[in-house]
Amino acid sequence: MSFKPANRIQDLQYFGEFGGVNPSISDSSTYTFLSAKTMFDTFEGNADGCYLYSRHSSPSNLYLGEALAAMEGTETANVSASGMGAITPVLLQLCQAGDHIVSSRTIYGGTYAFLKNFIPRFQINTSFVDITKLEVVEAAINKNTKVIFCESISNPLLEVANIAALAKIAKKHHIKLVVDNTFSPLTISPSILGADVVIHSLTKFINGSSDTVGGVVCGTQEFINQLRNVNDGACMLLGSTMDSLRAASVLKNLRTLHIRMKQHSKNAMYLAQKFELDGLKTVYPGLKSHPSHELFNTMMNTEYGYSGMLTIDVGSLDKANELMELMQKKSLGYLAVSLGFYKTLFSAPGSSTSSEIPLEEQKEMGLSDGLIRFSIGLDDDIERTYQMMNQCMKQLNILSLH
Ligand code: PLP
Repeated sequence: MSFKPANRIQDLQYFGEFGGVNPSISDSSTYTFLSAKTMFDTFEGNADGCYLYSRHSSPSNLYLGEALAAMEGTETANVSASGMGAITPVLLQLCQAGDHIVSSRTIYGGTYAFLKNFIPRFQINTSFVDITKLEVVEAAINKNTKVIFCESISNPLLEVANIAALAKIAKKHHIKLVVDNTFSPLTISPSILGADVVIHSLTKFINGSSDTVGGVVCGTQEFINQLRNVNDGACMLLGSTMDSLRAASVLKNLRTLHIRMKQHSKNAMYLAQKFELDGLKTVYPGLKSHPSHELFNTMMNTEYGYSGMLTIDVGSLDKANELMELMQKKSLGYLAVSLGFYKTLFSAPGSSTSSEIPLEEQKEMGLSDGLIRFSIGLDDDIERTYQMMNQCMKQLNILSLH
């Protein structure tokens, strides 16, 4: 694929107020107008380049949004205070009472809880499907369906969505394909593959420092304008706005994303191959044994690899907990949720990030007790990391089980 997302970030030029190489931070919640007429026009959305109030938009947030839109190849983008602060307004903007959503059943637990427990209070209902079965996805669409929702690489099972095929289905039924690309920035470009809206939790790989939560919606100018509309825009009215200071710091971190993704991917590939050779049940899109490995190859921007997320199954929750505690003790990473940090993070999703999903549904989708989700870090010496992890597994008799 010839799309070069990192070049598009690199090509952006900034001139701060005093000629700085970084844009000046707009540390204001409100903006003055020289004439009352311009203020009125801005309220009406007819005064381009004018700022009104920072919940609506601010220069720092626009800079970050434009960089993320460049990365995803969309017309524009709107940043928000968290990933959930991006997902929830998008779905509420696209759906009215009586509407229906078709969603992948393996998605981040918070998104699942929103669709399953929260949004039905507005008479918006969701069918959860196996997103890898295109005929099942299409069969779930009914006359009220407005959205197909999925993650490019799903949390936590690392299922891969066939974005181009899903986009075709969405177009055929005149509905929107919304893709959460949090697990695979740069690697997958959903919009280029046909998605209508691309969302990220910036909290993860994109910011990469585990020092903030943040989110973004990338899409057409028309859709982003709708989200920001002062009368009925879900971003404007629900108020999940990113702070300007934070937008400036996320923008600075975004510039090293390509280097970090390559290292996350390289390290994850190394460990996944080693774990698999050791006989561990390992899931990683870069492994030939992954059911969607070939599909992933057709979708990916090759130079960034298969991203930094992998899972292993160590048989039981007790074993998973023992292993994670031991690895943390040996400074191999943190027993923590989230992803995209310089250190490896590991958690057992069934009892943490996917605990919102009822146990029997977890079982049905293949989310087992002993599953450990790894966000592989930027370790310079991954071979040493592997040797130490292998020692931990041997000490706990995990490898002898396989
Ligand atoms: N999407 C995915 C795939 C996630 O993993 C998460 C959080 O873990 C979110 C969205 C929510 O993001 P945030 O925590 O920034 O609201």
